[in-house]
Amino acid sequence: MASKRRTDDRADGPARGVDPRIPLADRAGQLVGSVIDSSTSLLAAQSHDIVRFAMGAPADEAMPVKEFIDAAGSAWDASSFTYGATEGEPALIEAVSDGLGAEVDPERIVITSGGMQGLDLAGKLFITPGDLVVVESPTYTNGSATALSYGAELLEAPMDADGLDVDALAEAVERAGRTPAAIYTIPNFQNPSGVTLSVARRERLIELAREWGAVIIDDDPYGLLRFAGEDLPGFGELSGNDPLVFSVRTFSKILAPGLRVGWVEADPSLRQLLINAKQAMDTCTNVPNQHLVADFIGRGGLSDHLQRLKITYAERLAALRGALAERLGDRITVTEPEGGFFCWVTLQGADAEIEANRLFEIALAEGVAYIPGPAFSPAGRFGDALRLCFASTTPERIVEGVDRLTTALDRARAE
Ligand code: PMP
Repeated sequence: MASKRRTDDRADGPARGVDPRIPLADRAGQLVGSVIDSSTSLLAAQSHDIVRFAMGAPADEAMPVKEFIDAAGSAWDASSFTYGATEGEPALIEAVSDGLGAEVDPERIVITSGGMQGLDLAGKLFITPGDLVVVESPTYTNGSATALSYGAELLEAPMDADGLDVDALAEAVERAGRTPAAIYTIPNFQNPSGVTLSVARRERLIELAREWGAVIIDDDPYGLLRFAGEDLPGFGELSGNDPLVFSVRTFSKILAPGLRVGWVEADPSLRQLLINAKQAMDTCTNVPNQHLVADFIGRGGLSDHLQRLKITYAERLAALRGALAERLGDRITVTEPEGGFFCWVTLQGADAEIEANRLFEIALAEGVAYIPGPAFSPAGRFGDALRLCFASTTPERIVEGVDRLTTALDRARAE
């Protein structure tokens, strides 16, 4: 009798080191890890003082911790601790459908375990092994990892200051000789670059998606954190809720990531499939946390909270850009985000030759952490770039962090 394939390509893929007697599915070899997420444990293991520009998490003081703790007594009852509806708690669906700016038909909403589950659901529903999936270059690699785990072949499309370069994308698809099943984009204050997709390009992308019959996976955790410029219409609004638009949202950046509460907005015809997929994954999203979030929004707490966040983050970005300009000047270029959490720094001239991993080691020893550029490209591009998260560090510490980064760069150059 033929037995299941066992050892296959374990030599240097993600399954390296797994006991060869364990029969892994092919898919297991496509489960790439996240440098971003692993930085949490890496930094926790360091005993010296580190300025943390690494993880894209809100500052401790930016999360409504006290409000949550105070509300728990009234927001929770026995119904908070049993199974909930797979599509989400009615109070939270209602809060999301009319509490966050634009009204959304509740039939379009399914509550998820954070944005990551929304991305996983997109992979499950839209990606067949071997499908081409477009990702921005650089991209949020936890998102592209989800696509890979469903067997996608990734097409990295270039970006500039206006976001994904849709003309270059159209040419790349032409060259690929086949159309993508999905386009994964982060339209506002992109992770990692901080740039925003222009309205003209959003419109063009909708046209291309229609032409190709491709789903737009519209991942927008940061859109409500705009602190400069004007809000731009999203894909749903611009396309008249085209069924090809699948929007992934989360409370992780605007409230707290440990809650693991997010939602998707999708064509109502997908609702039952989404529910079926989620029932095979986790039955329902964490119910106590859904009740906390619904209660917080229901009390009207969100808009003041967002206002405070925008002021805090605008100050922090200004501190970061100011310190970078003063210390590093034209040794770098820096993106100019109008919201969100991230700046993308590209080393120039001789500094661009410094090896990314080596610079990271020196920076860590100097007491400053960031995420190296190659972590945001499935092909490992951007060895000359750094993602800096300005959200979780005070302006004073940001200045200190940039001083340390400058020392690290000087040391790396002298090597
Ligand atoms: N998408 C993007 C672009 C993100 O930046 C993040 C969080 N870093 C997520 C999705 C995942 O969100 P969550 O933590 O809610 O799963």
